[in-house]
Amino acid sequence: MSASFGDRERTALSKGQSLAAQVTRVKYGVYQVPSQSEPGTRWTIIQRADGGLQCVCPAGLVGRPCAHKAAVVVRRQREEKRGRRRAQAAAEATPKARRDVRRVEL
Ligand SMILES: [Zn+2]
Repeated sequence: MSASFGDRERTALSKGQSLAAQVTRVKYGVYQVPSQSEPGTRWTIIQRADGGLQCVCPAGLVGRPCAHKAAVVVRRQREEKRGRRRAQAAAEATPKARRDVRRVEL
């Protein structure tokens, strides 16, 4: 990849960090992110069958990295982190729950 492509990705990612809190999940695999340059416009980002993201903004339509796709990626990473913490908390709570079940079975 060229250096300019890397720069675009870095710019998209840094904008995406600040946009991540404004990501709305419309339904599974479909997200909306407000446009930064056009107030009132919301871009739709769709998860493709191959797992990649497609944004309908001018940059996204020509396959360039954009802040909206980056925002969805950042948002998902944050949610995954929260999910892992919840899963760990549930796992730590399990031994007590098992003891309770055994007591009931006796
Ligand atoms: Zn976009």
